[in-house]
This record gives sequence, C-alpha cells and structure tokens, in this order.
Amino acid sequence: MIQPSTANAKILVVEDEGIVALDISNHLEGMGYVVLGTAATGEDAIRKAEQLKPDLVLMDIKLRGKMDGIQAADMIRVHSKIPIIFLTAYADKPTLQRAKISEPYGYVLKPFEDRELLVAIEMALYKNTMERRLRESENRLRSIFNAVLDGVFVLDKLGNILDVNPAGCSMFGYTRPELLENNWETLVSAEDLEKFKNSKMMVNGLLSGTNEFRVVHRSGAILWVEMNSAVLEGSEDIHMVGVMRDITSRKRAEEQLLHDAFHDALTGLPNRSLFIDRLERAIQRGRRYENAAYAVLLLDLDRFKVINDSLGHQAGDQLLKQVAERLTSLLRASDTLARFGGDEFAILLEEFSTSEEAIKVAERIQEDLKRPFLLTEQTIVNSTSIGIVVGGRDYERSQDVLRDADIAMYKAKAAGKAQHVLFRTDFRERAITLLELEGDLRLAQARGELHVFYQPIFNLIDGKIAGFEALLRWFHPQRGLIPPSDFIPLAEETGLIHTIGTFVLREACKQLVEWQAKFPLLAGLSVSVNLSGKQLNQPDLPEQVSQVLQETGMDAHNLKLELTENQLIDNSPSALAALEKLRQLGLQLLVDDFGVGYSSLSYVQQFPIDTIKIDRIFVNRLQDGEARRAEIVQTIIQLAHELQLGTIAEGIETPQQLLQLKALSCEYGQGWLFSKAQGKEAIERILQASIPFNRPDLAGMAVAA
Ligand code: C2E
Ligand code: MG
Ligand code: MG
Repeated sequence: MIQPSTANAKILVVEDEGIVALDISNHLEGMGYVVLGTAATGEDAIRKAEQLKPDLVLMDIKLRGKMDGIQAADMIRVHSKIPIIFLTAYADKPTLQRAKISEPYGYVLKPFEDRELLVAIEMALYKNTMERRLRESENRLRSIFNAVLDGVFVLDKLGNILDVNPAGCSMFGYTRPELLENNWETLVSAEDLEKFKNSKMMVNGLLSGTNEFRVVHRSGAILWVEMNSAVLEGSEDIHMVGVMRDITSRKRAEEQLLHDAFHDALTGLPNRSLFIDRLERAIQRGRRYENAAYAVLLLDLDRFKVINDSLGHQAGDQLLKQVAERLTSLLRASDTLARFGGDEFAILLEEFSTSEEAIKVAERIQEDLKRPFLLTEQTIVNSTSIGIVVGGRDYERSQDVLRDADIAMYKAKAAGKAQHVLFRTDFRERAITLLELEGDLRLAQARGELHVFYQPIFNLIDGKIAGFEALLRWFHPQRGLIPPSDFIPLAEETGLIHTIGTFVLREACKQLVEWQAKFPLLAGLSVSVNLSGKQLNQPDLPEQVSQVLQETGMDAHNLKLELTENQLIDNSPSALAALEKLRQLGLQLLVDDFGVGYSSLSYVQQFPIDTIKIDRIFVNRLQDGEARRAEIVQTIIQLAHELQLGTIAEGIETPQQLLQLKALSCEYGQGWLFSKAQGKEAIERILQASIPFNRPDLAGMAVAA
C-alpha cells in the first residue's frame, strides 16, 4: 500500500463517466485521501469546488456539456486558487497549450497507475503549500511596506521607480502612479545629484550605503532626506531598494547649531571662532602672495560698561546692535566684522595695501561711532578705542595677530578715549603679556610691591605746603617701576581697582594722620586720592570711605578725592548721589586733568565739586609764552572763580610757568619744580624743612609775583 504524506487531503473528482469516477474515487481512498465528491459537468465542478472547498481537484479535460475541463479549471482557479490536476487521455500539443491558462499543477494520463497519481497529487499539494506560504509572506511584506513611515523606493538599474510605498508618495507629494512614471533623479536636488554622480557611493549607477542629500518636493520645497540603500545583486530588473527618511527638521536644527556656533546671538555677526577661521585664511594668503596684506582692527567701546550698568542691559544691547549696524554699513562685503563678546568688535580688512588705509578705516569708524545713538529711552554719545595690526608675511598664527591687536587696543585705551593705535613691534616687548602682568598685579598688594608716593601741593599765594597728592607706584620685582598709566587701566578692567583703590585711600589717610601727629604745626595739610571711574560705580563707595576715615582717625576735611571730567560725565545718577554723600562726609571733590575731557565748566558745575585741577598740557604750554595758551588757562581760572571753585595747576616744571600761574591767580600748584612724587622718608625731610618757613625758597618765588 502506498501511503501519501498528506493523508486526509480532500479531493474533488470531476469525471463525466460515472464508472470511471467511481474507480478513481476508490483508488484515491485506497491511497488514504478523502474524496469529497464527484462532479460530471464543468458547472457542477465549479459549484462543488465552491461549496466543498477541496484541497485539490482532479479534472477530466473532456466533459460533456457546454464547458470542458480546462474552462471549468480556469474558473475555479480564478475564484479559489485550488490546485488542479488534469486527468486526461489527450496529450496533444494544442490541448496542453490551452490547459496552461488555468495554471495546472500537473497532468496524469489515463489510464494511470496508482504511483503516478500519488506522485502527481503529492507534488501538487506541496507546490500549493509553498505558494500559499509565499503569498502570505508577500502579503506580510506588503503590509509592512505600506505601513512603514519611511519612504521605500524600489528602483531598476536606470533609476526608474518600480515601486514606492504610501510614505514615499506623501514625502514627495505625488501619487504612486505619478512616481512610477518617474526616475528618482528627477526627485534629487540638482547639486546633490551632481555630487553623487562623482562619488564612490554609486554602484552601477545607483546609490549604496547611507546618504544624506536634498530632494525636491512637488511644491518645490527642498527637503533633506537620509537614504539607506541596498543594491540588489543578481536580480533581473530590481536593482536598488532605498529607504528614505525626512530629516529636514534635524538638518535645520543642525544648521542652526552650526550657525550659532559661529555667530553672536545678539548682533548676528560672526563670533570669535569664525573670525579666527577667516583670519587664518588671510594669514595663509598673506604668506603665499606678496601683496596679500590684511589688517585687523580691534574695537572697544569706551563707555559701554557704564551705559550697561547705569541704563540697564536692554539699553546696552540696543547700543551694541546699533554699533553692529553702523559698522556693517561702513565696511565692504569682503571685510569680516565680528563681535568678540562684551563691547569688543573685530574687523578683518582684506585686499588693501598700506597701513594708512587701515588707519583711515579706523578714523572713519571712530567718526561715525561718535554720532549719537538713539536708544528707546535715551540718546547717548560714545567713543571707541581701536587697536590696529597690519599683517603680512610676518605672522603665522592668528593668536599672534590678535595678541598684537590687543596690545595696540590696550595702548589706545591707555592713551585716553577715542584713540586708535597702530601696532609696532616694539610694543610687544613692553606689553609682553598683559596676562602675566594681570597675574602679577593680583599678587602685588599682598607681596608689598604697591607703594603710595606723595607729591607735595603748594599754596601759590603764600608759598606754603598745602598737602599732597597720593600717587600709586608698583615696584615689580623683575620689571622695576611700572607707572600707574600701565597698570591702572588693567586694574580697572579686571576689577582689581576696588581693592587697590581702598588700599591707596587707607594708606594715604594713615600717612596723613601720622604726619599731622609728627608735625603738629602742619596740621592743616590735606591729601588728595585719585578715584577710578570704576570705584565711583560701587554703590557702597561712601560707606567704604567713611569706614576708612573712622579706622584711621582721619578728619574728612583733610581728604580730597580726584575724579576726571570723563568719569563724571560717564557716570549714572546713582554715582551723582554717591558724590553728594561723600561731600556730606565733609571731604572735598576735585576734577582732575581739567581741560582734556569734556572741557565744559558749566557741565562740571552740575556736580558737587570744590576744586578743579588744570591739566598739565595747559601748564606745559604756558612755557612757550603763547598768548592764546595763557588765555585758555586764564578763562578756566576765571570761570572757576565765578563758580566759586578753587584751582590747582598740575605739572609745573619751570619758574616761568609758576609766575604766569600766579599772575592768573591760580591758588595751588604741584609739579617737578617743587617736587616729584616721593616716598615717605623723602617727604618727611621736606616737611621737616618746611616747618619754620614752609619752603622759604619757593615761598619767596610764590609770593614775589
Ligand atoms: P594724575 O592724577 O593727573 O597725576 C598726576 C600725574 O602727573 C602723576 O603721574 C605725576 O607723577 C605726574 N606729574 C606731577 N608733576 C609733574 C610734572 O611737573 N611734570 C610731569 N610731566 N608730570 C608730573 P603718575 O604718578 O604717573 O600718575 C599718572 C596717573 O595715574 C594719575 O594722573 C592718575 O590718573 C593715575 N593714578 C595714580 N595713582 C592712582 C591711584 O592711586 N588711583 C587711581 N585711580 N589712579 C591713580
Ligand atoms: Mg590726580
Ligand atoms: Mg592730573
């Protein structure tokens, strides 16, 4: 007995000869199959196949009636995919040819042997099972294909789109039929297509691996996509499957991040990193070509901190934005303007030849930035300091260019406001590193390197010594004496001025109290202490001063604080209140370096001021005997007197200057003619000598005129 592997398979037998049908059924059952029934006509076969749902139909080709076995088989296949085996006595070519339309699973020629029939049935059932599995697997894949959110494209080797899933369609805004008529190249942005054509990513004209590129949506919008592509080897017409993901928003975020990494958020200008990048390139060009000079301008707004502190950050931000706009409009497109942070801007000028040109640009900028800025609630006037470096073959590294620009800028600041300074190599040595100096300055006080010197101030009318100006000296262990003009700006910038300022004040008061005790006849002497603008901004300045007065036992009437005109003008209403409070403590306020700043006495008069100190440059010019110079000093002194202010002349170096000042009724004077600023012991010798006559030699001169 032959046993089928698929016993119990249910079979429908279609045979118009009743005897034959019975015989076949017997054979089948003998083999272990289940015969569901028999049909004698095509119509009957179709109906029974529908009702009984057999696993297999054994179909005689020749049937009585309108329909033959081939037609019936065809109908059954269309409806139910039930496998069919033809049982036939005819094996002529045309019949076999025709039978193909129903995709039969086999032929068994009558008369047959059991073994033949069994093999044919088993093969048909096996094939059917395989086909069913394949169909199921295909359906599964298709539903995945339709359900995934990534666009899936199937392409042939020419890039024609053979298949695309719904996500792929909606990604591009086209319908599936529209896409199927297209080549994927029509979807890729022109630039990226060009890039791919020359890249190693292409295998047989198709993309492989993972790639990010831009595509064009139906609307014309550009999208960024990431595509994972697999090139299928050995398949006839499908050559690539590409899975595309829309990464536009990620790309935008990346671009934004990249932009942010190289730009200043407030002004939108390039930042230091981008500037350095451009500078490096300029340096490379400069080293390669003879005439590729470039210049770096480093700008620092002179009063920014004050504006920011007194008017608030919003006003500060407004100012910075306006400065950025003005600078942009002054420069060429090929120049790079960057904000380095705070109020520091940098400009890289390229394609020019001389330092004069760079200076002209600096002048133009300074001129323009002098115009008032209209902020929401305020109109402010400002000035800018600029350091200039002209680079050529001599620079290799951007940090060296920037260091030198920084040195030049620092020089410009130190020279007073609204200056520009062109870097010279000899600056470098002096400024070796501001950083080093800053580090040293932090330690200077603790190491006892800071000393207060005193320059005597004389009453020009009676020739007697009236007091001193306290002037700070730094004795650096390696560099020797560093003048205050070299380190006070640094102290201001770093905030060290607060502790240093308090140190000078305390020292000066202590010293004066000591001298008053030592020389009781000179008890009326006063001491002047210079105040930095930064100190004036400290809200607790009056408290600090009064504390020092208490600690040292100093009488406030003997203390004078010196401020420059610019400090007064730069400062906020709160600073004005501080000045009032200081005056209430009983001390006097003095305007230092008068005449070189705003030079407006009526303006200065708004402040609680007692005395003005005429700047050295006016005193110096008195020397030349120039009438006009004398006139200026005369006007200053007259105006001061009308405003009930006292006058001191500083920098008196010659007897001639002294005589002129006396003639102009200047009350007090200081200068090298009398004495330089000196240490405690030297001053004590002067005081000792002054006791009886108070420097009779000079008193004689002072009184004589
Ligand atoms: P200043 O307050 O105008 O001080 C006067 C400067 O003129 C001093 O320079 C003094 O040494 C110098 N001088 C005095 N007589 C003559 C003269 O006859 N001819 C010439 N050519 N110069 C003379 P110094 O000591 O170098 O100070 C420079 C500036 O540094 C000062 O100018 C002041 O603004 C600042 N400074 C000095 N000590 C301090 C301090 O303790 N605190 C602050 N905030 N600033 C200080
Ligand atoms: Mg002074
Ligand atoms: Mg002065």
